Amino acid sequence: MSETTSQSPHDDVADGVEATPLVRLEGAGKRYGNIIALRDVTMDVHAGQVTCVLGDNGAGKSTLIKIIAGLHQHTDGVMRINGEETVFDSPRDALEVGIATVYQDLAVVPLMPVWRNFFLGSELTVGWGPLKRLDVPAMKRIAKEELFEMGIDLRDVDQPIGTLSGGERQCVAIARAVYFGAKVLILDEPTAALGVKQSGVVLRYIMQAKNRGLGVVFITHNPHHAFPVGDRFMVLKRGRSIGYHVKDEISIDDLTAQMAGGAELQELSHELAQLGGHTAELKQVEADLEQTLGGRPAQ
Ligand code: ATP
Repeated sequence: MSETTSQSPHDDVADGVEATPLVRLEGAGKRYGNIIALRDVTMDVHAGQVTCVLGDNGAGKSTLIKIIAGLHQHTDGVMRINGEETVFDSPRDALEVGIATVYQDLAVVPLMPVWRNFFLGSELTVGWGPLKRLDVPAMKRIAKEELFEMGIDLRDVDQPIGTLSGGERQCVAIARAVYFGAKVLILDEPTAALGVKQSGVVLRYIMQAKNRGLGVVFITHNPHHAFPVGDRFMVLKRGRSIGYHVKDEISIDDLTAQMAGGAELQELSHELAQLGGHTAELKQVEADLEQTLGGRPAQ
């Protein structure tokens, strides 16, 4: 394939296996008028792999999701779907090629049963014409089976989805996307609002989706969530990719340092040192910085 990223050149060969990525961005960017929300981003999403996109607030993560999910169109670079240069006109276009997005504020109806939410908008029916009605038994059975397949053993799919934990609700949304034939699953900060245990539950289902051959895009600001499940990692900062690595090339410490902006912290530390005539307060700030940097070299 053509072009590579300016930050960290990459082709689509991972672990010695060459494959056409399900999704590939090549130098992709997005301008909103004068504002550049995303620039020169190159990344791949492969079947059976998790591509993690990390970044703090305003880094461009939502913009990236919107491009792949068909909500907004890129203004620079190229997006390829299964190798074909593509511009989506709407989210429906993305859905049609199997790109499903699970947003953080899940589009669920809390008071409706789990099975109803599972089939929301795609209800199964029996009969024709005036005799057409919802096939409730089939929907309950399938919802239970599909959730069980993903390792979610709900006693009762009749319970309102609002009674499930945040992690479980995310998992229902993932199972739903898998059932309806998603090939690419975009997860928008699925662990952001969750505690440690619930995050673990969601990370397990990300692995389930990966093991079923889906290409997963996992958006997060937490390197400790990304590292155990990710195959590729892209760190975004102010709309730019500041690093794109396959797992073998990067450690959790490196990833954390990139996220924390190791170079910026080091620079600040030097500036403080140059101020001279330190007050106790300044010295404390420096000591804290040193500890945060953990003796790591600047990027
Ligand atoms: P957060 O985690 O806070 O949601 P993010 O990483 O998702 O942040 P984006 O929402 O993609 O970041 O925003 C990236 C930059 O683009 C921000 O500076 C934002 O203000 C700008 N931006 C995003 N959408 C628009 C828009 N529709 N019009 C103008 N600027 C925008």
